[in-house]
Amino acid sequence: MNILLATSEAVPFSKTGGLADVCGALPGQLAQLGHSPAVILPAYRQSWCCGQPIEELGIDFIVPIGSKTVTGHLLQSTMPGTDVPVYLVKQDQYYDRDGLYQADGKDYIDNCERFVFFSRAVLEAIRLLDLNVDLLHVNDWQTGLVPAYLKIEYRGIPRYENIASLLTIHNLAYQGQFWHWDMLLTGLDWKYFNWHQMEFHGYLNLLKTGLVFADSINTVSPRYAQEIQSPTLGCGLEGTLQQRRDVLSGILNGMDPSHWNPAGDPHLAADYDVDSYREGKAACKAALQEAVGLPQRPEVPVVGLIGRLCQQKGIELVVEVMKQWAPNRDVQWVVLGTGDAEYHKKLEDLVERYPQKVAVRLEFSGPLAHQIEAGADMFLMPSRYEPCGLNQMYSLAYGTVPVVRATGGLADTIVDAREETLVAGTANGFSFGEYSNLALAETLDRACQAYQDKEVWNQLVTTGMRQDWSWNRSARQYLALYARTIERMKQAAHV
Ligand code: ADP
Repeated sequence: MNILLATSEAVPFSKTGGLADVCGALPGQLAQLGHSPAVILPAYRQSWCCGQPIEELGIDFIVPIGSKTVTGHLLQSTMPGTDVPVYLVKQDQYYDRDGLYQADGKDYIDNCERFVFFSRAVLEAIRLLDLNVDLLHVNDWQTGLVPAYLKIEYRGIPRYENIASLLTIHNLAYQGQFWHWDMLLTGLDWKYFNWHQMEFHGYLNLLKTGLVFADSINTVSPRYAQEIQSPTLGCGLEGTLQQRRDVLSGILNGMDPSHWNPAGDPHLAADYDVDSYREGKAACKAALQEAVGLPQRPEVPVVGLIGRLCQQKGIELVVEVMKQWAPNRDVQWVVLGTGDAEYHKKLEDLVERYPQKVAVRLEFSGPLAHQIEAGADMFLMPSRYEPCGLNQMYSLAYGTVPVVRATGGLADTIVDAREETLVAGTANGFSFGEYSNLALAETLDRACQAYQDKEVWNQLVTTGMRQDWSWNRSARQYLALYARTIERMKQAAHV
């Protein structure tokens, strides 16, 4: 199968979040399974530091953007360690900037124009590079226009006629919503600006456009695929998603074992696997405590948290429980993240008041993330919503027991330790349903009690470490979905 993955970010060329991890890992897995993927993405300023050689192809193209035309160039590279081609769309006025989508916390005002250009470039690149594409896999709002152009402007052109499209939603909360006059930039007829297609409460909505025009839609976990059809997590698009529920499914993201494997992790004080985790984790815990300035006490449970410090991740609950527990509970907390200033301040206050118990690093640090995954005993993810989540999978692999709110991918990966699940041997962590301080505190309390019971804890750790959350499994599911999508498109063409 020939798959073209169009994305606004992919590791190692560019990254702001989980989207980049997925688009960086999936193509290599598809290639290993005998298929022919290629990736296309913008050439940002940060792409030049990716460590991969990037070559000029000498191919220029011109596309219409509103009433003007804009020129772009195609560059080529490969995904590290593979032959998977990566095409980069160079247009320095749009992409040669410090940030991918924003500067100083403010979105670029021409984001719509930047991704109209990229979406048109994706379709032109197919012709210019002479690519045979069976399936065009687009991701999030930045490429939401691609399925629309494919169905409207490229319909009837032989090379494009049999291309099926799949849109993956990585986070429904980011929709690419712009004022209605940006419709002119798309070059599409105003007749599509209606509430069944591209319009959302008077605005142009690029994610909705993709949801309407793609042949199939998926999200990054089965539970999130269900949740986004309800008003609570549907972000206003639940109606559109309900209408398309027959073609909507969920596939969990995978973990990249070449980056996340405690048996060969260059960032750790000691390597370990499921048979040697006791000694290995003890060494990593002591190294972590030392690195972040906490007392080196092997017996005290260390609770870790890594991530964007924002509302989605439930940081408000964490801060409240830390405040309640820090004065009298013997627990150490290690937090790594960046995000809202309000949480930065609250966490810094806690460090000041309880330096023996709370360590906070307000930065982005890959090595420290690995050290926390290995050195902590428990890992906290009390998210309001979580399309998939990767850290809980890393935690399972590193023998660090996840404590999570049962939402989205967290609900699909973590089995709460209860009598029945312990007996069945399926328990691998702790989870709660209600989004409240009380529910988090109760669940963390259950986890701390279990931590004192060596047998139960050993069972939880080893169950998690033996599970396989690698990309291989997810890639097979994507291939099955691609095949279904192509079949569906063929059938629709014959009606
Ligand atoms: P999201 O994509 O919603 O931010 P995910 O759990 O899917 O959350 O993925 C986030 C990724 O970014 C994980 O690999 C996580 O370890 C990493 N990450 C987030 N914040 C930091 C940080 N401050 N330092 C290092 N890694 C981080």
